[in-house]
Formats: sequence, structure tokens, C-alpha cells
Amino acid sequence: MSITCKNCNNVFEGNFCNNCGQSASVKRINWKYIYDDVKGNYVSFNKTKFYSAKELLFRPGFLIRDFLSGKRVNFYKPVSLVLFVASVYAYLFHTFNINPYSVSQSGIGDVNIYKFNIIHEWINSHFSISSLISVPIISVTAFLLFKKQNLNFSEYLVINTFLAAQRIIIRIVFFPVMLIMNYTHHLNYIFQFLSVADIALMVWAFYQMFENISLLNVILKVLLIYLISFILTLAGFVMVFLIL
Ligand SMILES: [Zn+2]
Repeated sequence: MSITCKNCNNVFEGNFCNNCGQSASVKRINWKYIYDDVKGNYVSFNKTKFYSAKELLFRPGFLIRDFLSGKRVNFYKPVSLVLFVASVYAYLFHTFNINPYSVSQSGIGDVNIYKFNIIHEWINSHFSISSLISVPIISVTAFLLFKKQNLNFSEYLVINTFLAAQRIIIRIVFFPVMLIMNYTHHLNYIFQFLSVADIALMVWAFYQMFENISLLNVILKVLLIYLISFILTLAGFVMVFLIL
């Protein structure tokens, strides 16, 4: 039986495409796919797959759409990718002692603002781990808000895992700037700039991914995703604070 390759449209017989090497068994993303990716191999970061990190920076929505539709052989699997870049960023951040706490801890009387800053600083200094935690939260919210797009929840997990990787890659790109600004007030501006950039990048990605909705609609939904996810994360942190 001949099969049309989902990656390159080549018609072939057998288990793998003889043109691009993609497996014949590429299916729609489901729980099994996520599970296999989670228990997969994280260290085999080769040159072809590095291409996906670059693609993710410059055409995120198109990359994700292609990936979901079955063009997968040239792309790093999302969970493996995010764990790899998260490890790199966490390693750089802690090895070079980037210190977002240094500026705002002095001179603030209001306990609530102080606590809020602590949360914000914790997120910045543990960005890798908080990005991973945010994936399921953002996926639930996006799944509900973009329901008309007919994607399943596993697909939203894949989308937001890619987008979490994108946010971390941006920080790795900006790492030299953080290093230069370390222990100055400017470091906070860098983190504020990156937070705004995160929102813009998510808008850009969803706008590329879903052709049938307007830019304004995407902007409103992404802001809502951020708001709801932020409230949920904050509630989680408050619970941790109350317990400790
Ligand atoms: Zn092929």
C-alpha cells in the first residue's frame, strides 16, 4: 500500500519516507504522543533540530501549524526542546549569578507590594521552571478561548510547550545584555521588556497559526489568557505562601 508523506508529500511504500525519512505512522497529536515525548531522549540535540529553535524565533505560528499537521521529521519534539533550552537558561542564569532581587528589596513598606515583587522576582529567577509550570495552565485557558479552532487539548499542550521554549530562547538571546546590566536598575527594565515581548510573541504565534481570526480577536484572547493564567498562578503562589 502506498502512503503519501505528511512531511514532503512524497508517495512511498514501507515504514519510512524514502525522500525525507519521516515515519509513515505520523498521526494527529494525542496523549500518547505527549507521553512518548516526555519520556524521550533529551540530549540528542543535533544540527537539523537546532533549525527548529531558529524557526521558532522567526515564524513560530507557521512552525507549530506545520508540526501539528504532520511535518515533524525536521523538528525537535516540543517537550525535549523545552527541557533542553530550560536547562541551558537555568544553567547560565545561576552560574553567572544574575540577580533580579538586588534592586527592589530595599525601601518598600507595603507588605503586599513586597510579596508581589517577591513573586515577580521568583518567576524571573526561576524562569525555566515557572515556564514549565505555566504550560498546562496556559493550555487549559487557550483550549477554552480558542475552542472554535477544533484542536484537542494535547495539541494545545504541544503549542504552549513550543511557546514556552520560544520565551526561554528569547531570554538566552538576551542573556549577554542581562550579564552587562546585572546588579543595576536596568536589569529590571530588561525583565519588564521581556514580559511585554512574551505577550507580543504569543499574539504573533496564534495569529500566524489561526488564519481565520482577526488580529484584534487574537490580541484580546491572548491578554485574557495572560490574565487568567496570571490569576491562577498567583492563587497557586498565595496558597504556597500561606502554607509555608
Ligand atoms: Zn517525506
